Amino acid sequence: MSTPEKKKAAKKASGRSKAPAPFWETKSLKEMTREEWESLCDGCGQCCMVKIEDEDTGGIYLTRLACRMLDIGSCRCSDYKNRHASEPDCIVIRPKNLRDLTWLPKTCAYRRIDEGRGLEWWHPLVSGDPNTVHEAGISVGDWARSEEGVRDRAVARYIIGEAE
Ligand code: SF4
Ligand code: SF4
Repeated sequence: MSTPEKKKAAKKASGRSKAPAPFWETKSLKEMTREEWESLCDGCGQCCMVKIEDEDTGGIYLTRLACRMLDIGSCRCSDYKNRHASEPDCIVIRPKNLRDLTWLPKTCAYRRIDEGRGLEWWHPLVSGDPNTVHEAGISVGDWARSEEGVRDRAVARYIIGEAE
């Protein structure tokens, strides 16, 4: 049987308001503000790896070579704002082209949200810590090497698999 004190405590607890759901659970990718969209990137660096397309099959192969602009230590672009000045082919991910970018990793936050899979514990927006993407082994920091100095004909030596 409950004492009056316990009833009072229970009433107080049930009266607590729940925190609002985060934007990535309530908004579609198209509805996000630019700031929300940018914050969705987990900083894994996987999309900045050099890819090779098989002209005959259309298959896309991933390599462990990182774009020369990638700071491998942080897995962030070294000049994100001005990157197109030196890397004009750098693709801007948008809701409208997301599904065409079949080489994006399954862990990519944009792909996860688009496929209704939500964000994992290691995503910085969930953990509140930008390092968890590295600690969980999602980022390329431990295995990437720069494309700098690698000749075009040698790139195929660095293939690590086919895009899924
Ligand atoms: S793969 Fe996706 S989440 Fe990772 S760095 Fe690229 S855009 Fe950001
Ligand atoms: S220019 Fe920057 S954002 Fe674009 S692929 Fe290279 S490192 Fe990544």
